[in-house]
Order: sequence, then structure tokens, then C-alpha cells
Amino acid sequence: MKIPYSKVSCAGNELKYIKQVLQSGWLTTASKTAEFEQKIADLTGATHALAVNSCTAGLHLALDAVHGVYGTVGQGDGVFLPTMTFTASAEVVRYMGADPILLDVDYGTKLITPEILARAIAKYPHVKTLLVVHYGGQSADMDAILSLCHTHNITVIEDAAHALPAKNGHTMVGNMGDITCFSFYANKTLTTGEGGMITTNNAQYAQRMKIMRTHGIDRDSFARFTSDKPSWQYDVIAPGYKYNLSDVASAIGLAQLERLECMRQGRQNIAEFYHTALADNPYIDLPEFRVPYADNAWHIYSIVIKPNSPVSRNQVIERLAQAGIGTSVHYTPVHRLSYYQEKYNYNPQDYPNAEAYFVGCISLPLYADLTDTEQHYIVNTLKEILQK
Ligand SMILES: *Cc1c(COP(=O)(O)O)cnc(C)c1O
Repeated sequence: MKIPYSKVSCAGNELKYIKQVLQSGWLTTASKTAEFEQKIADLTGATHALAVNSCTAGLHLALDAVHGVYGTVGQGDGVFLPTMTFTASAEVVRYMGADPILLDVDYGTKLITPEILARAIAKYPHVKTLLVVHYGGQSADMDAILSLCHTHNITVIEDAAHALPAKNGHTMVGNMGDITCFSFYANKTLTTGEGGMITTNNAQYAQRMKIMRTHGIDRDSFARFTSDKPSWQYDVIAPGYKYNLSDVASAIGLAQLERLECMRQGRQNIAEFYHTALADNPYIDLPEFRVPYADNAWHIYSIVIKPNSPVSRNQVIERLAQAGIGTSVHYTPVHRLSYYQEKYNYNPQDYPNAEAYFVGCISLPLYADLTDTEQHYIVNTLKEILQK
């Protein structure tokens, strides 16, 4: 048997919509992207949705917009973010010249908690920006986090690369903090190959990000004052970026969107199977969930091989690979990565939960196309490996 860690399903209208774009005579940002943006706005309930060519680009634009309004994400400013995340969440902070102030996470959920954040605020009262990561597709406790941030004038950007579609209480992720960024990278819950989406309810942020997404060109305001000028004329208000999404990508996104809930339910079923089948294994810690299963996007299902296990985590990964089963590790915490470690000299002892989780964690395959036979094979192989 050969089971990859990740596999994309393009079984819907992907080809049909791509063909429409190819026949339209215009392959980059146009009507398919506008439609994709509107559908994400409708889904999340956010007022503005801006398509970008990656979540990383979105996070960069978000920090730039917040810095533009408050001046709080520049040289020497700190930004809170969990150490248990993909490196992209930290690198965008460095793009701005700001410094990542890393937070530990809860061991079971891998999410930052209001308690962890409250301690960080007390220790670093000058930090005015928080980047939340909804690890694995489960929303962090945003009611309490937003209320804390409101009290302390902290702007909240959400790295929701894992969290489409996901909910916290009655609110969709994408409609809570100041700005939210989704990823449509190849292995994410909705993919366009490469791509991302920003949502916000703040018109000022939306305007700035829209302009900076395309070279800093301010066509809208220029057109307002010079409606008699030809359309080739434009003004540039800042050296912006090239972060727009092509219509080919948006065509794939629109097709994926039609199957979003169906694929989410498929992943939930697999996660529930793992959760039950591995429940009383003495060498495994299972992930914990704070939201109802239906509110989780289920991007990652990761177990922890406990320190008492007769077989080490790395050996388990190796033996699973020998049995044809692909797995992954999410993530080497940011404080362990050379660049960050050397520049900031983070102390691993400040992140006990992230450390305990990282040394034992293994992410299991989680995609809707995974068959029953494959799921059983994964669980049985894992159990067998742990017996010796
Ligand atoms: C995938 C991912 C990103 C980056 O997404 P891209 O679309 O590849 O830029 C950012 N943050 C997290 C947590 C991710 O998993």
C-alpha cells in the first residue's frame, strides 16, 4: 500500500472553470477572482475579501495595513505569535522589521490561550499586535482573546491558513479579528495550487491592502479626480507588491468551494475514526478539541508519541514510511529554527508545551479521498509499530 501524507482532489468543476478562463482571452485577475472574493465574503460574513497569491502575501499586506494606521509594526516593534506555527507567520513580521515575540501554546490544542496571552501582555506591555494561528483548523478562543486585546489596544491578525471553513461559537473564522488570512496552498483544505484570501470588516485596511496588493497603484482615487483621463494613467502612493491572484487559480478555487463542506465532513469522519481507534493506546497522546467537531476545518490530525513509548517518534515515522504511509511533523517550533534562534536567542524552556508536543508529534494523513481500508491500515500499522 502507498498512502501519501497529502493528496488533492480536483473531482469537481475545476477543469470546466479553468477552460472558461482560458477561452476568455484574459488569464490574470478578472471576473473569476471577483466572484471568488464575493463567495468567500459571503461564506465568512466579512465585508471585504481580497484574493492574493499566497497567505504569506496576505499576512504581509495585513501587517503593512496595520502599520499604516497605527505605526505599531515597524522597526523595533514586537508582534505576539505562537511558536507552534509555520515559519511564514514569523517571516512576515521580519519583512516589516518588527520582532516576533513567541508564545507557548496549549499542549492538547496547540492553540494560544487567553491565559498565555495575558501573561505575555503583562510582560510586554508595549506590544500592540497579535497574530493568532488557528492550529489544525480549530479556532482559538477568540471571544476571550479579542476581549483581552480590546482592553489593551492590541490589533488582531488571524493566520487562518488551516481554518476554512471554521467557526468559533456562531461566528466564522474570517469575521472576528481585524484582518484574517487564508491559504490555498497545495495541501490546504481548499487549494488553488498557490493562493490566499484576506478578509476584513475594516474599509480603511481593505483599501490599503487592495492598493498594496498591486504595486501601490491607486487607480480608484486617481480615477475619481481625473475621470477625463485615459485608463492607462495611474498614480502610485507607495512601493507596493505584486500579490494579486490569477483567474486560473480563482477558477480552481470556485470549484473547490462547491465541495468545501463535503471535503470538511470527509476529513472529520477520518479524524473521528483515528480518535476512536487510537483512544486507549498507552503510548499515544491524542489531540484535544475545544470546538464542536462540525466547527473544525480539520486540516491536521496530529498525535504525540509519549516519552514512555518503546519506539521513538522518529523511528515511528520511519517505520510508517517503510509501510508506505506518509506522515508529517507540524511544526518545528519557530524558536528552534536557526535564523530565529540565532537572532533572538529564544529559551526553549519558555515554551514547555510546544517542546513537549514537538518532540513527539506526528501528523497522520487527512484528506477526504482516504479510503476505509487505508484508514484501517494506518491505525493497525501504527499500533503494531508501538508494540515493539
Ligand atoms: C501554509 C501556511 C502559511 C502560508 O501559506 P502560503 O499560502 O503557502 O503562503 C501560513 N501560515 C500557516 C500556519 C500555514 O500553515
